Amino acid sequence: MDYDVMIIGAGPGGIFSAYELAENNPELRIGVFEAGHPLEKRKCPIDGKTVKSCVRCKPCAIMNGFGGAGAFSDGKYNITNDFGGTLYEYIGRDTAMELMRYVDDINCRYGGAGTKMYTTAGTAFKKLCMQNRLTLLDASVRHLGTDINYVVLGNLYAELRDKVDFHFDTPVYDLRSCEDGYEIITEKGDHYTAAKCIVSVGRSGSKWMEHICRELDIPTRSNRVDLGVRVEIPSVIFDNITDELYEGKIVYRTEKFEDPVRTFCMNPHGIVVNENTNGIVTVNGHSFEDEHRKTENTNFALLVSKHFSEPFKDSNGYGESIARLSNMLGGGVIVQRFGDLERGRRSTPARIENGNVRPTLNATPGDLSLVLPKRILDGIIEMIYALDRIAPGVANEDTLLYGVEVKFYNMEVELNSRLETCHKDLFVIGDGSGVTHSLSHASASGVYVAREILREY
Ligand SMILES: Cc1cc2nc3c(=O)[nH]c(=O)nc-3n(C[C@H](O)[C@H](O)[C@H](O)COP(=O)(O)OP(=O)(O)OC[C@H]3O[C@@H](n4cnc5c(N)ncnc54)[C@H](O)[C@@H]3O)c2cc1C
Repeated sequence: MDYDVMIIGAGPGGIFSAYELAENNPELRIGVFEAGHPLEKRKCPIDGKTVKSCVRCKPCAIMNGFGGAGAFSDGKYNITNDFGGTLYEYIGRDTAMELMRYVDDINCRYGGAGTKMYTTAGTAFKKLCMQNRLTLLDASVRHLGTDINYVVLGNLYAELRDKVDFHFDTPVYDLRSCEDGYEIITEKGDHYTAAKCIVSVGRSGSKWMEHICRELDIPTRSNRVDLGVRVEIPSVIFDNITDELYEGKIVYRTEKFEDPVRTFCMNPHGIVVNENTNGIVTVNGHSFEDEHRKTENTNFALLVSKHFSEPFKDSNGYGESIARLSNMLGGGVIVQRFGDLERGRRSTPARIENGNVRPTLNATPGDLSLVLPKRILDGIIEMIYALDRIAPGVANEDTLLYGVEVKFYNMEVELNSRLETCHKDLFVIGDGSGVTHSLSHASASGVYVAREILREY
């Protein structure tokens, strides 16, 4: 065997598995295989000047490499069982919370100390939401910010690089069971073996994960897709919310269809960014701790969850098709003023230019009603008016909507309470398992599996 433990993917799930294993048993031989670059070599070519939109690099520097999809994220670690995944269903609520707090301690130790922890508990804002048909979910949120998140990842790498073999730019092509363990074959054609294998390939590895589950006969369940837009407003409109909570997870049930619409990923004084998933350009958001990088805008997503029933199984394919439609019409992400959407007309460069909100992403002015299904768009419009009641100004004409934002969920891999598949010592963690959808849950799942393995050594 080349290793005791092989880890596929160096996102938060893989990193925290490696960390926990290496710190607690220095004798273990650990190999981490990552499709993307080391952290310092991850550089998206979009500079807003010579390269204005996604050129579909392979691997994508935003989604792949040390730090995974979260490396350039806002670094919001939500410590809660209310959202971010269903890890608690496998390991119990108390263990899940304990592990998320443990991850927070490590993040603080490796550069995150001094960043702010927000909490929704006991806020007056919760009552205001209730009075307006809105629900504020409970959570504590450690906001590292994109810049400190990067520092923490750099420090974790410095800690691990001498204890763990990192194989960067090494996509794993195949995974097989072999005598006494597992064998992987990389795209370069190299073979490696280990007694135990942790798969942590995240969202970008979802297609690969499906393929491996088919090959190894691991049962899966199809999941949901969340579709919507990213809203950008002058930050003063949302300051009462973001100053107190930083990230308010607010849910609204529409009057028309009783569909839940939720806010997601708030970025006070942040920027709107492109995201590339499997070659499809969607929208996301970032914000910074560094005062110099803060903008005059706040952005957040409004998402509607779509669950499909029989016979349709390809929920991600549905989300991809809608995102592809926006790419077809706009060459990438489309931006529209809320006033234009309400009037049933497209936005033009001049209409955006004349508005009060200066866009932080160079997107194509267009018409989102040609892209998003009516039911989803109706839900988003209703929610914008509901938010306007707690933060007047959200429904202003100049509010910008970028589309589409899609939150893809991996199919759920059937796992036992050790997060182990039907094959002994083959574990699947993080977003690639369909169990987690966030930094804190993915990281916690990594620590959990590492501890399961450590018990055997
Ligand atoms: C722009 C952006 C902002 C976000 N902001 C937040 C936030 O503020 N808070 C939050 O909680 N969540 C956020 N998220 C989500 C969060 O990043 C993910 O939930 C988290 O990264 C999941 O961790 P993971 O380790 O499971 O997977 P990932 O982080 O996706 O890492 C998986 C890794 O596996 C590698 N890989 C895939 N396939 C293979 C293969 N075949 N061989 C080798 N390597 C492979 C990939 O290159 C990748 O590096 C954000 C995501 C994005 C894209």
